[in-house]
Amino acid sequence: MRTRVGKRLRRIIERPASVELTKYEKLLPAIGEREDDLRDRSDDDLSRAARELRTDGEFSIEQLVEFCALGREVSRRTLGERAFDVQLLGVMGLLSQHVVQMATGEGKTLVGALAACGHALQGKRVHVISVNDYLARRDAEWMRPVFDLLGVSVGWVEPATTHAERKDAYACDVTYGAVSEIGFDVLRDRLVTKANERVLAQPEVAIVDEADSVLVDEARVPLVMAGSVDTGVVDEEVAKIVPRLRLGLHYETDADGKNAWLTPAGASVVEKALGGIDLYDESGSERLAAVNVALHAHALLTRDVDYLVRDGKVQLINTSRGRVAELQRWPDGLQAAVEAKEQLPPSDRGEVLDSITVQALIARYPVVAGMTGTAVAVAETLREFYKLEVAVIPPNTPNIRVDEPDRIFASPSQKLRAIVAKITRVHEEGRPILVGTQDVAESEELAEKLTKAGLTCTVLNARNDAEEAEIIAEAGKPGTITVSTQMAGRGTDIKLGGSASDAAEREKAISLGGLYVIGTARYPSSRLDDQLRGRAGRQGDPGGSVFFASLEDDLVQAGSPDVPEGLVADDDGEITDPAASRHLNHAQRVVEGANQEIHRNTWRYTRLIERQRNDLLAFRDEVLLTDSASELLQAEARERYDQLAERLPEETLAQICREIQLFHLDQMWADHLAFLADVRESIHLRALGKETPIDEFHRAAIPEFHKIIDEAKKRTVKTFADTEITDDGVDLAGAGVKRPTSTWTYLVHDNPFDSDAEQALKKIRGTLRKKRR
Ligand code: ADP
Ligand code: MG
Repeated sequence: MRTRVGKRLRRIIERPASVELTKYEKLLPAIGEREDDLRDRSDDDLSRAARELRTDGEFSIEQLVEFCALGREVSRRTLGERAFDVQLLGVMGLLSQHVVQMATGEGKTLVGALAACGHALQGKRVHVISVNDYLARRDAEWMRPVFDLLGVSVGWVEPATTHAERKDAYACDVTYGAVSEIGFDVLRDRLVTKANERVLAQPEVAIVDEADSVLVDEARVPLVMAGSVDTGVVDEEVAKIVPRLRLGLHYETDADGKNAWLTPAGASVVEKALGGIDLYDESGSERLAAVNVALHAHALLTRDVDYLVRDGKVQLINTSRGRVAELQRWPDGLQAAVEAKEQLPPSDRGEVLDSITVQALIARYPVVAGMTGTAVAVAETLREFYKLEVAVIPPNTPNIRVDEPDRIFASPSQKLRAIVAKITRVHEEGRPILVGTQDVAESEELAEKLTKAGLTCTVLNARNDAEEAEIIAEAGKPGTITVSTQMAGRGTDIKLGGSASDAAEREKAISLGGLYVIGTARYPSSRLDDQLRGRAGRQGDPGGSVFFASLEDDLVQAGSPDVPEGLVADDDGEITDPAASRHLNHAQRVVEGANQEIHRNTWRYTRLIERQRNDLLAFRDEVLLTDSASELLQAEARERYDQLAERLPEETLAQICREIQLFHLDQMWADHLAFLADVRESIHLRALGKETPIDEFHRAAIPEFHKIIDEAKKRTVKTFADTEITDDGVDLAGAGVKRPTSTWTYLVHDNPFDSDAEQALKKIRGTLRKKRR
């Protein structure tokens, strides 16, 4: 028994980081043999051949060979780029659901497009997922001739795409879109009240570009949809009068401070101030409601006890925990009333209606494949979270880039001085330089220093993807210094000599050694370091790279702040002791481990939420797509149903029933999300007990979720019974069925769970320390 477990363990541990594609390599000669024949064919012949490959099942080996041969010829004919053997290997890797590792500049855009065609010809709808909107559009337009000739329809979505265009784009065989844009469409589709408003169909195949960025770095980023609820404008007059009212004379409160009401004297003061109206008359009911809310804000809520005023905003205090409850608001007009009381402008109130993490978004696709320059380093993560295997595709031309050892300094200022000196020296020769910084602030600081040193540089500041692409495309021109964060301009090829393909400039750049990449600090993972280095030496070009680091860099501080003693620096602060380099690598590994731990931890929480969401959506779909809502109401509110059925066409009534039930389901889901966020936030404070936080989270989340469907039904029946019948049907708004007046979407970029990061780091450091002992 024990040996069997041991064997299994060993097999898991020894599992290689990448799989072999020998099976597909063997097909390359056969693909090559088809080349001459296909070259002689007309465009129509090629299109016809592609059409003949269309199937609802999987390609046979012969069909796969024919498809690759066609892909090669079509790309040669349309783009002037005959797909290399390694690219076709990449295509076959993507068709067999791998994450293919292909270096920067190897032509992954074409590989992804051909693989998308291959999936489409096998009867599947494909989404090619990019890291940003600019790349989605660029790639769709760039590859369109390939799609056209193969008879595969292609579209793309970006934020400006209209609803109708979006439907068309998603109806294509292949749709390009940024991960955020597709995610937002998923969120929007989940909240429609009419089935034909949906833009997406069932997800089938995802091909993810820059797969490590999307699947690992951004995996736990939540995409959020928020909505504003029209809570009624503040009654200015009322807001002025109410602060003048006095307790005991004009109003009373109950002992536990939950209710406040006007005395007869108070009512008459208010009535007079409002121009002699009657608050308790039917015509005064709206104003009475406004007075009540304002009185509540005035009499029952105390600044600095129930809420704070900070940065011009009212922030609620969770009284049981004595801390600000982010993202929470009071119901109805109360929030507005408190803002009026504090003379603050009314805030843009929003409520999280729904959210999805990138990882859950990808998990919707039954078939996933990806491509990136750096996959092997995250092979474990891809396997753990996505059950994906990495396949390494060799470069078309061997890489001859020279990676120099790190230059490590004692302090950041010494490091910065050395970086400027290095740039100055390399620039004197005219060699093009790309400097990769950690963030925009550092880019700007460095640019200032370079300017002071008399050097001209271009700074990419992560503001506009399209502009950045243009700038970075020129980074390979002799004499150019480009300063950029690691992320900026990604997906854009840096051609030696510049984008104009000027032969003389290219020769010059090559004679100077090609692009020289300088990293100003090691990144939170060696994979990110490699991505920066990969900017140089593409497709067999010469190139070089070096990283600078200091023992006070954020990475070292976070990962391993106890710097070994006895490291000696020279006059410029440089430390050449190998122990410094070891320490740096160690710090990076700690941070990598911590990030993986955070990912794992976040997934533990979100997995439950995603599962609950999916369960509820299945129920919601039934309400949306069938007449279950009218059946419910016919049974539970018979009288009102029959009344309405006499006056309204059947379909109108069915839609009214549907909208009421959908409203309650969506509202309850939003409330549930707020509840979960609150539980999640408070768990850390209580985690000191015996229970693990995740168990406690489940204990709170599960029973609460199980109430939703029944409670929504109850509310649906009540709302339906309460609706007023008007001339044009029923007054849904009057019954409280108010869908958000506007919605907006955003990404949560900062890690919202800082305490997690802290805990993960502590844990990793702790285990490593134990191991070292
Ligand atoms: P990656 O995404 O792998 O970094 P890109 O798809 O941006 O690479 O392509 C890099 C460059 O290589 C582009 O300029 C593209 O036109 C070119 N390219 C791609 N495939 C071929 C090919 N088969 N023959 C010639 N050039 C190619
Ligand atoms: Mg690319």
